[in-house]
This record gives sequence, structure tokens and C-alpha cells, in this order.
Amino acid sequence: MSKLTPLEPWITGKIGVRAGNALTRAALEKFQLARLGETVDYVKRHSPFYQQRLAGYAPPASWEELSAFPFTTPSDLQENDHQFLCVSLAEIERIVTLQSSGSTAPPKRVHFTAADLELTIDFFHHGMATLVQPGQKVLILMPGEQPGSVGDLLKKGLARLGVTSIIHGLVRDAEETLRTIETQEIDCLVGLPVQLLSLARHPSAALIGPNRIKSILVSADFASPALVNALNSAWGAPVIDHYGMTEMGLGGGVECRHCCGYHLREADLYVEIIDPLSGHPLPDGELGEVVFTTLTRRGMPLVRYRTGDQARFLKEPCPCGTVLRRMERVQGRMAGSVLLAKGVPLNITELDQVLFPLPFLLDYQAVISSRNNRDALAIGIETYGADADQQNRTIHHALMALPSISAAVSSGDLALDPVSAGKCVPSATIKRSIIDLRKE
Ligand SMILES: [Zn+2]
Repeated sequence: MSKLTPLEPWITGKIGVRAGNALTRAALEKFQLARLGETVDYVKRHSPFYQQRLAGYAPPASWEELSAFPFTTPSDLQENDHQFLCVSLAEIERIVTLQSSGSTAPPKRVHFTAADLELTIDFFHHGMATLVQPGQKVLILMPGEQPGSVGDLLKKGLARLGVTSIIHGLVRDAEETLRTIETQEIDCLVGLPVQLLSLARHPSAALIGPNRIKSILVSADFASPALVNALNSAWGAPVIDHYGMTEMGLGGGVECRHCCGYHLREADLYVEIIDPLSGHPLPDGELGEVVFTTLTRRGMPLVRYRTGDQARFLKEPCPCGTVLRRMERVQGRMAGSVLLAKGVPLNITELDQVLFPLPFLLDYQAVISSRNNRDALAIGIETYGADADQQNRTIHHALMALPSISAAVSSGDLALDPVSAGKCVPSATIKRSIIDLRKE
């Protein structure tokens, strides 16, 4: 397996660089700018939303010109997805409906033509070459019953690579999933980070031979460094992170074997990092909001779509030697924090960082509520091992290692509720976050 990301030769071919010639940043950016111009022209002609939003904007001739373009926001999509369509409904092959977490906001609907879905299959085909070789077998722990769903498209992409796969769906019964891994001789797992961790920490994981799993792809949710480390040591296999969202066409980018940031689908997406307050693009190395423009989609192209995800481009080249850019692992959403007393933020990544190293923890859920005029933080855990008192003490001790929590507890502004045990129910479309039940 080559260490160079397989996305590089794929993108080289896609942008029309002749075989044998190396990809350069200049050639790639020239391609992106030309496609960006075509996209702007196309959406202005076909999408009622962009006819209005981009009235007075000519296709950009430079990145500076693009930076003056207005953004598209998730609420624009929520308001009227049909206004974004560039084709008739008859040409739409698949519509993905995205519920937003814990809010009453209307869902977002993202539409894809058959050609749009083909772009995703093609990305999965080449991206998965990072993890698996022809002849290997993948267990897909993601939804895949519907044609055009993520599991279905991934299975099609893997088949082109000569890799067999089984669409298993989300893990509901860990024992049954572990038995499948062993009896079906699975080489690679694709799933939600917390689900993969709870599988590895399940007592029946002892069934799995030590070298059974050779690679793991985590997808659909943020994987904090603590979670990735825990997964890596539990499975003894490299953990490769995939970044994507439905609006990007499900797939956005994937790490190479060096596991140090995503390489992006640069022939299909133009990604910017912007200052969320000023809206200005930020230089490489600075943390901001991920914004993307689709370059090849036909059904519902998006121009400068604000993801709410927080990341940065890394300045240093990747050890794999690619000319593709490298984006640091996304750590969470801009709006993903809850505020404790005195406006101190707390987010799920910080909780992950102190809780996932605990070996008895399979998954957890954090809920903040208001009681007697102060905040109360309740942690529900999914666990194996019986000593509830000991687990309670260990969890509280771990939480108090976070300065924001220990300060709020010491000042009497926050109470830590006793830990409760039960089953956590994951979702493949809603990213994990702290559930905030406090009223204004
Ligand atoms: Zn790389």
C-alpha cells in the first residue's frame, strides 16, 4: 500500500493532467477556479435562490473576487430547499432529510441526481483505497438499506475496488456484531467513533482474534483525539478519520495512512476557512469556520456554504508528500458549546478528552439542566463492570480535571449529578453534543 494518499492520483486524473505528469497546486487551482466560474454561472441560470442571492455577481475570476460573494447558510436551506434545485424534481434520484439536533428548526433536505451520487461513489472508491486492498472485507456499521444512502454508496465504491462489504447498519446488539466480525472474517470496520469504541470494550470483544481488524474508518461524527487513541489501542489497528456532511455530497475528505489531517476532494469541492465574525478568509494555520463550494454537482450545487464546523488548514506539507491540502481534524461545531456560570464554555470534545480514556466506558451522554437556580450536569453512561459507586467516583474525578467544571463546582454554580447507567442510542445523522435543557 502506497503511503501517498490515493486521492492524489485520482484527482490528477479527474482534472485532466496527462498520465505520467505530476499534479501541481497551480494546475489544481486553475481547474478549481474554472469550475467555480461554471458553477456560479450554472446556479444563476437554474436555481431561483441563487438567481436572487447572486444577482449582480459575475463568475469570479480570482479567489479575491470569490471572497466578496455572499454565504449560503443552513437556514437558507431549511427555508426552501426547492429554490436551490437546478434540475426538475424528476431528475432527483435521492433526497436526504437532516433533522437538527434537539431543536424545533425545520429539517434540511439535500437533493442529489444520479450523476451527483456517482461522484460520491467515485470518491468512496478511491478514498477507501487508503484503508483496504482488493480481496479484503469491510463491515459497514452505517445505515444502508435505502438506495443512495451512505452505506449503499460505500458498498458500491468498495466493489469497484475489488473489496467485499456487508452493510450491517448501526450497532444495536454488540455481541451479534462482534460475532459477525469473527465469522465473516472482517478486515476493516467503518462506523461512528463511539460505536466502534463500545464494540472494542465489550467483554465479547475477546472473541475477535488479535490481528483480525487491520484498519478502521471513523465517520459521521467528530472523533476527539482521546477517542481516536482509545479506539486505536482497543482494536490495535490504524484509525483513519473521514470528514464529510450530507451537504458536501456525504463525503468531504479522508486522512492518509499518516493520520494527521484530511485530504479533501479538491476536484469536487472548494474549501475555505473563514473568520466566523468578519467572514474574511483566513490564512493557513488559523482556526475558523469551514465553508465550501461544490464544483461538480448538478442537482443542488451550493456556493460558499457555512458548515458551522471549526478547523484549520495545516501549513506544513503532509508526510505522505501530496500536493493536496491538509485540513486538521475537525474538533467540533462553532455552536457546539454550552455556557456554564460566568460565560465559561464547555463542549463535548472536552468531556470526551477526560471520559473516553476510562476503560469501563462504552459510551456516554451529557445533559445540563437548571435546578434551584444553578446548573446541574448529569452523565449517563453505558458500561460493563458492576461497581457503580466506583464508576461514579471515577467519572466525577475525571470531570473535575476540567478547569471549567471544577471552577463552577467550587463556586457553587454547578452540581454534578450521580452517574446513571443505561443504553445510549446513537444517531448516524446527528452529531453528539451536550444536551442543554436549561430555559432562557
Ligand atoms: Zn497525506
